[in-house]
Amino acid sequence: MNAESLLEERLMKRSQQRKRLSPLNYKERLFVLSRSRLEYYDGRAAKKNRKGSIQLSRICCAEIVKHGGEILPCPNKYPFQVVYDSVCTLYVFAPSQDSRSLWVQSLKEEIKHNAQIATRFHPQFWQEGVWLCCRQTDRQAAGCQQYDLYGDICRKPLPPIPGEEGAGGQGGLPRAPLAPEEDAGDSGDGGEVVVVALYDFRGVEPHDLSLVRDHEYVVVEHCDPNWYKARNLHGSEGYIPSNYVSEKKSGNLQQFSWYSKHINRNQAEELLRREDKEGAFMVRDSSRLGAYTVSVYTKSLAGDRGAAIKHYHIKEVQTPFKQFYLAEKHQFSSISALIDYHKHNAAGIVSRLRYPVSKQDTSAPSTAGFSYEKWEINPSDLTFMKELGSGQFGLVRLGKWRARHKVAIKAIREGAMYEEDFIEEAKVMMRLSHPKLVQLYGVCSQQSPIYIVTEFMERGCLLNFLRQGRGSFSLGSLLSMCQDVVEGMEHLELNSFIHRDLASRNCLVSDSLVVKVSDFGMTRYVLDNQYTSSSGSMFPVKWSPPEVLHYCKYSSKSDVWSYGVLMWEVFSEGRMPFEHSQNHQVVAMVTQGQRLFRPKLATAAIYDIMHLCWKERPEERPSFSQICTMISNALESDTQLNSPISPPYLHLNATLTPP
Ligand code: ADP
Repeated sequence: MNAESLLEERLMKRSQQRKRLSPLNYKERLFVLSRSRLEYYDGRAAKKNRKGSIQLSRICCAEIVKHGGEILPCPNKYPFQVVYDSVCTLYVFAPSQDSRSLWVQSLKEEIKHNAQIATRFHPQFWQEGVWLCCRQTDRQAAGCQQYDLYGDICRKPLPPIPGEEGAGGQGGLPRAPLAPEEDAGDSGDGGEVVVVALYDFRGVEPHDLSLVRDHEYVVVEHCDPNWYKARNLHGSEGYIPSNYVSEKKSGNLQQFSWYSKHINRNQAEELLRREDKEGAFMVRDSSRLGAYTVSVYTKSLAGDRGAAIKHYHIKEVQTPFKQFYLAEKHQFSSISALIDYHKHNAAGIVSRLRYPVSKQDTSAPSTAGFSYEKWEINPSDLTFMKELGSGQFGLVRLGKWRARHKVAIKAIREGAMYEEDFIEEAKVMMRLSHPKLVQLYGVCSQQSPIYIVTEFMERGCLLNFLRQGRGSFSLGSLLSMCQDVVEGMEHLELNSFIHRDLASRNCLVSDSLVVKVSDFGMTRYVLDNQYTSSSGSMFPVKWSPPEVLHYCKYSSKSDVWSYGVLMWEVFSEGRMPFEHSQNHQVVAMVTQGQRLFRPKLATAAIYDIMHLCWKERPEERPSFSQICTMISNALESDTQLNSPISPPYLHLNATLTPP
């Protein structure tokens, strides 16, 4: 074995089937994993007949492939996948369960600090022009299952494959120490996936299945990334929104009421303060990828004015099995066991964990449409309430769908939109479902004017919100707004969807002060060329990078430029960028390399992020995933973000934030 390599083994590789229906073949290759690359060779590595190589930094997902027990046309029966450059998938076949586990685990270990880790993936093969898991026929279709880099990979024996008993176990590899077996809810090959409802869901169509929070359901089919077909305990089946449930298995924290995934330090503190209870706590993702933080609220610290909030990193050790702890003396095999212990014993932390607080308590998220495959909305299901505003497409009103769900209804003014093109695209847009994107619920396309029905955002557009609240925002809350937007944009980027008009006027604010990105992709359907031509008076010149101004070249990186300007708007509390210059002057200034000045409220670190977004060359700008990490780090580490916080509590071995 080469000194640099971490793993070497002869595995089978499937041809990449770049053309939709090209036949598949399988070749044996020597695979070599090193700290920087996954390479495969024809013959021996020493002979240097390299057939392929993937830089580890390009890999966003390594995972087993489920194949439901059908016979694989390959002598090796344990497939796994390596997804790189977001959309390319390499399928590799290991000779045994243990060999596959070792490869997947090792790859996950090596990629865990990568900037781009997939949030969703396809658990089954891409084959003959279709994803076998979700039946989507677009090779680049977003994954239909949540990807868990830290989730445990299936280590239970597969059901024997007819005629292939005993295929495993020839790997000849040293066995890596494996973690203890998982408990209930195994989602291994062919097994049923059990999920727990995070929220109540009242089905709206006869084919829906209603959900009761904390109840369990069996997933029968992953219909698309947003809707599953599920069965309840009584045997009834129907469609459920995938974002209302979480897989029940150890290692998946989302099933617990004390865990909040998308929440930063600032928001955690706000929620804990609002609860105002001794021992209120939550577990959240820490800014370090894959790590978790416990935030605890206490009023009992002598010398503190009022209450204090402490943040503890959950530490992980490998001894040889993975163990978690807050206080080194008390180690547990899972985070849930750790939390259970500290519910009863403070054991060094500032208070025992008494009251779980979670974001989930606040409100259920939007669903991607009101039901599975429902994008046409019956106008008689809508009632109209007050006017919310008007934009380039027409009047927006608050309304209700079936007298229950508040919605925003945009009535499209005649001649304002390429309606047919939009209606076609609306089906794609509806699938873009994310907590930081304003959800499109559907359209009333069979009438004139057509209506676009979206999630209602109580506090209106971000630009007005900033202007009206001038002087009242903390640094943390401004950064939190930027974080919301970058999360929404990261989701668009991962789905290769370009916004084209990102600005604070196109973001909306919810009742709970979450900012969401709106109107994505909509400029493509505007008929008025004052908006669409870069020389038009309504074109967003001040938000546009040089390549858009000069060549109309849009990309996720042109969105990144606009995002930098949006950050500037946030930190100047809604001022107009380049307020004393006209559009044509801005074109000249930006082309000569001039950039917006630092708003007073932005720290140097925050302004640095804006500047990275305004790099002349698009490829030098960071991706949204990278910006997301930068902003999380800023939120996690900046001690001046909020009202005064008491000094860190130092009686523990656990890392405290700030250190
Ligand atoms: P257009 O796309 O036609 O330009 P906008 O989306 O800008 O229209 O909407 C115009 C105004 O209507 C916004 O500034 C905002 O105040 C209000 N509005 C639009 N959508 C919503 C919504 N989903 N929830 C609440 N208010 C909204």
